[in-house]
Amino acid sequence: MNYACNIYLQFKGGFLKKLISIITPIYNEKDVLEIFFNEIEKCFVKINYEYEIICVNDGSTDGTFDFLKTKSNKNDFVKVINLSKNYGKEIALTAGIDNANGDAVIPIDCDLQDPVSVIPLLIEEWEKGFDVVLAKRVDRSSDSFTKRYTSKIFYNLIDKISDVQIPSNVGDFRLMDRKTILALRGYRERSRFMKGIMASLGFKQTTVEYKRAPRVAGKTKWSYWKLYLLALEGIVSFTSLPLKIWSYIGASVAFGAFIYGAFLIIKTLIFGIDTPGYASLMVVFLFMSGLILLCLGVIGEYLARIFIETKDRPLYIIDEKVNFNSDEK
Ligand code: UDP
Ligand code: MG
Repeated sequence: MNYACNIYLQFKGGFLKKLISIITPIYNEKDVLEIFFNEIEKCFVKINYEYEIICVNDGSTDGTFDFLKTKSNKNDFVKVINLSKNYGKEIALTAGIDNANGDAVIPIDCDLQDPVSVIPLLIEEWEKGFDVVLAKRVDRSSDSFTKRYTSKIFYNLIDKISDVQIPSNVGDFRLMDRKTILALRGYRERSRFMKGIMASLGFKQTTVEYKRAPRVAGKTKWSYWKLYLLALEGIVSFTSLPLKIWSYIGASVAFGAFIYGAFLIIKTLIFGIDTPGYASLMVVFLFMSGLILLCLGVIGEYLARIFIETKDRPLYIIDEKVNFNSDEK
């Protein structure tokens, strides 16, 4: 028995190639998939690793799933998870991570904005002993000016107010060792901001730089409204500062009110009763109501998330899995 075990371990260590899981969330990307698969296949011809491509179909409506099914029927390394509806990229990515078997996992966008040519560099750093290898965008000229600018403001803000250091200009594209993936699976919150969650894990990290390319085909699924919601998610899930700040705002307003009150008393004592000040009353009243509503809104943002989390519903529902063995995970 022991002997057999030893032989097996030697076999695994010496001859079996390591498995890399490429995870890609896909929403209506039929036009880019063929090019994406070609690029990945070309990339792995050059390096000595096994690979699987876990395609998470996030409720596409353009025939993406049929394409993926045909592809996976012909190629065992293409595995498909078909979600029951569109859950958004963050959840789709989670579904992929939950089902990846690789010794290392690389989430990547299938629109080739994350260049496949960076994959060997990520693997190289991983082999040096790093658990997380981040791919950092040094040139984002393919993104619009407003997108770059708003994203810069967001990263600056979250860097200042959150305890978690979220690296700027780093997307989901990165390599993660299996042990970080196992840790990541423990995070089951519904309000997910994957970049933040991944950043909070720790482990030994390094960075590889790359230039972000324009999309090869199709168009972005992110409107500014969706980006705003994602940014809000990031802030609310990674810092409670907006919630706490109200005690300070409240204290300063109360202090201001105290000074103003003292001023009014002294003024009345010296100059006698003035005509009632409608304007000043109105201004204070409106200002205070505005502050209270704003504060309630902030509490609401957190409360809504608590409400959703307490239901503890599954994060996603899988409709169908293709090319997965039942015992794999
Ligand atoms: N995506 C997804 N579900 C969605 C929206 C997007 O799985 O609801 C996928 C999309 O197919 C792509 C990746 O997430 O592979 C990134 O989306 P996109 O290219 O639109 O974002 P951008 O690169 O513009 O930030
Ligand atoms: Mg893209």
